[in-house]
Amino acid sequence: MNEKGYRFWFATGSQDLYGEECLAKVAEHSRIMVEELNKTGILPFELVWKPTLIDNASIRRLFNEANADEECAGVITWMHTFSPAKSWILGLQEYRKPLLHLHTQFNQEIPYDTIDMDFMNENQSAHGDREFGHIVSRMGIERKVVVGHWSDERVQKRIADWMRTAVGIMESSHIRVVRIADNMRNVAVTEGDKVEAQIKFGWEIDAYPVNEIAEYVKAVPSGEIETLVEEYYSKYDILLEGREEKEFRRHVAVQAGIEIGFETFLKEKNYQAVVTHFGDLGSLKQLPGLAIQRLMEKGYGFGAEGDWKTAAMVRLMKIMTSGMKDAKGTSFMEDYTYNLVPGKEGILQAHMLEVCPTISEGPIGIKVCPLSMGDREDPARLVFTSKTGPAIAASLVDLGNRFRLIINEVDCKKVEKPMPKLPVATAFWTPKPNLAVGAESWILAGGAHHTAFSYDLTAEQMGDWAAAMGIEAVYIDQDTTIRSLKNELRWNSIAFR
Ligand code: MN
Repeated sequence: MNEKGYRFWFATGSQDLYGEECLAKVAEHSRIMVEELNKTGILPFELVWKPTLIDNASIRRLFNEANADEECAGVITWMHTFSPAKSWILGLQEYRKPLLHLHTQFNQEIPYDTIDMDFMNENQSAHGDREFGHIVSRMGIERKVVVGHWSDERVQKRIADWMRTAVGIMESSHIRVVRIADNMRNVAVTEGDKVEAQIKFGWEIDAYPVNEIAEYVKAVPSGEIETLVEEYYSKYDILLEGREEKEFRRHVAVQAGIEIGFETFLKEKNYQAVVTHFGDLGSLKQLPGLAIQRLMEKGYGFGAEGDWKTAAMVRLMKIMTSGMKDAKGTSFMEDYTYNLVPGKEGILQAHMLEVCPTISEGPIGIKVCPLSMGDREDPARLVFTSKTGPAIAASLVDLGNRFRLIINEVDCKKVEKPMPKLPVATAFWTPKPNLAVGAESWILAGGAHHTAFSYDLTAEQMGDWAAAMGIEAVYIDQDTTIRSLKNELRWNSIAFR
């Protein structure tokens, strides 16, 4: 996943009117907060304490150092006392990385018995943070504001979530997508402005002729293929379903060759996401199925039928969840078919083949079956069902004059019965607030049939990423009503013009 060892800087604001004694306390308090926050084990990245900022010069220097430090993924600011915000203007103007304003204070409770004016002067975040917030708002700078006592686990969790968003913001401009063949003919929603995507998100999106990648597959030594097939056979259930073992194994070996060949190509050319198209496979013998599923599991982004937007989003979301304890998984996904039985409504999610095994629950099997589309050999694929629980599905669409990110909270469930004849990996979910309103909203917002799906990210995190990129985000969740959504889309069409 190319971990860069990111860290976040903690900057405390004050001024020199309070005297040395007070400033010593300010520094001591912020140092304790940083130490304790680092000890919680909740923050996925280390916080680095910085000396108290009291004037324009020190503030400007800190933000420029943060810009230049490759390991710094963002700055967290907190005004322990009053810090006149004109001192922050130049530093903020020059700062280019994610910003979190932690609106907290050192003490949790008002010390009723002892509080006096000295205490008030030393502990006035409620006052100082408003001055700071004002200037950030006036300057129109995108930032996250988190409110509450720093020892509160909910506050720590929100900082942790934002840290992952911040890494997504930082890493977005390092995503390179390789397009193996063009977008599927006649399909609208998978198209888009690649130049604008690079301007907005920093994504580099390049095309290669299929056969150039197919050469890498052909060049894989048979010994390496055999070793990987052995790994598959030891790791997954082999579901022959009447096929002859030798022939089955030969089909699986084709995918092993594709996995190794593709990964060699991706590493050599420095791409972290890939698209394929079943209608343009050149000399590849099968549509990459099992191979793509394994690459996604390793952290590569993927989009089918040339869908580079979803491929980049899957990669982005895999970066944002990288190293997460008890992660449940992130995948490329597609809305396939509905269950419309009252009380049991939901959408069966799958793709022709390419669903990431990180979202699986229970055993994973290998099947070899006809694709029923295209003109190639029956491809081998991993089959499984997926975890239950809350998750999000995100779709980035190009509306012609701008990008819109649609984020739907969904509730993943088990299907009522097994589906023995369906030879693909699946998930099943009910969108929030319910299927009827969720799907109507999705369609009104112009959401695609392809999504980037994750159990491990929140809608808030994706919306914050979109805000940092300067694009529109549309949430579909428990609070969505059609009337408010239609108004929101109407107003956004003006705001984002
Ligand atoms: Mn598709």
